Amino acid sequence: MFDNLSERLESSFKLLKGQGRITEVNIAETLKDVRRALLDADVNFKIAKEFTKDVKEKALGANVLNAVKPGQLMVKIVRDELAQLMGGTAEEIDLKRQPAVILMAGLQGSGKTTFSGKLAGFLKNKKSKNPLLVAGDVYRPAAIDQLKVVGEQIGAPVYTEEGNKNPVKIAKAAIKEAKTKGHDVVIVDTAGRLAVDEDMMKEISAIKDAINPHEILFVVDSMTGQDAVNTAKEFNDRLDFNGVILTKLDGDTRGGAALSIRKVVDKPIKFVGTGEKLDALDVFHPDRMADRILGMGDVVSLVERAQEQFDEEQARKLNKKLAKNQFDFDDFLGQIQQIKKMGNIKDLASMIPGVGKALKKMDIDDDAFKGIEAIIRAMTPSERQQPNIINGSRRKRIADGSGTNVQEVNRLIKQFAETRKMMKAMSSGKMKNMMRNMPQ
Ligand code: GDP
Repeated sequence: MFDNLSERLESSFKLLKGQGRITEVNIAETLKDVRRALLDADVNFKIAKEFTKDVKEKALGANVLNAVKPGQLMVKIVRDELAQLMGGTAEEIDLKRQPAVILMAGLQGSGKTTFSGKLAGFLKNKKSKNPLLVAGDVYRPAAIDQLKVVGEQIGAPVYTEEGNKNPVKIAKAAIKEAKTKGHDVVIVDTAGRLAVDEDMMKEISAIKDAINPHEILFVVDSMTGQDAVNTAKEFNDRLDFNGVILTKLDGDTRGGAALSIRKVVDKPIKFVGTGEKLDALDVFHPDRMADRILGMGDVVSLVERAQEQFDEEQARKLNKKLAKNQFDFDDFLGQIQQIKKMGNIKDLASMIPGVGKALKKMDIDDDAFKGIEAIIRAMTPSERQQPNIINGSRRKRIADGSGTNVQEVNRLIKQFAETRKMMKAMSSGKMKNMMRNMPQ
């Protein structure tokens, strides 16, 4: 995500290296480069021009700060301007009403149904809500089935009316049902077309007028770049929506839609979709995204994700086991599962300042732990609990069973033994003594 832009901006800042202060002359080349980088990221031409104009004014005006090097100053200014361009601060969806009614709009294939499910899951798990999903795409039976599957995975009921081809009536009836059944959020998925067309706009406008939603969310595929921005404009002119959902950001290497859409329609991006799985959504934080673009990482999001997965009770148990040197392969597997739940490893790495860039060219995938997991799963319960019984013939069997080889099994067992020793030292306080005795 944004890989090219990050690299290009970084090299444009390097042009200021060795300069004592920013001048109209020495900043010109950098600004030209920044603008080209934005255009190559598929940012709207006018926005790119305005952006560099603002950066220039701020940079010349900030010259009084003699202590800061021009390169660093530019990074700071560009970072702040990027955050501003994307909306400044995160904006939440309005859930005050009972029930809060959310209407999804967007083209076919933009990810509406998937996002409806993601949002239902998010509201259920993170906001303790009880959402009702509504199948308003009455033209494609497959769309209704898709929403049912999504609802089942999330554990949220789906309101459908067999044979009813009137989405306005369905949406109204669904809200009535939500009231009687005590749902506090209603999410109405609607039909999209492949391109903007009058019938679709009329239908969604009719649904809007009939149910008077508290939030209209426009869902758009970020990979379509400037087309996404143009479609947003057309939908906004008709619907005056409340927020944008940018999907498929995981596949968007340029970032033009994310950078331009806010400015063009003057509506905030509220969530981004980062994968096909139903937990692959993030609240959109413009400032954090700007940090990531400039390779500054996103430690806040990383810590938040870690906190979400952190289970205090489990941590306490683990600590006890560590102190008694009972940490075994089952615990090890549990730890791997927890890390995996936090998300894709490369994505996590990109949140650590400086690390993302270093890892960018390396081939790390979601299955970074695959070999280790396979080896542990090929062990018997007693082998997992007492690794010291794993002799030569057991190692051979484990290697065969896990589709790896004996060297890999040996390596894992050796690493595990070392980790265990270190963890025991740390948890029993010996580490402190070791540190104290170390030469200063
Ligand atoms: P709809 O026609 O607007 O309801 O779109 P769907 O929800 O059916 O999504 C279209 C396709 O995009 C499906 O294959 C989804 O799995 C995929 N998709 C949706 N959101 C994302 C996302 O954030 N990342 C990726 N990689 N794929 C997504």
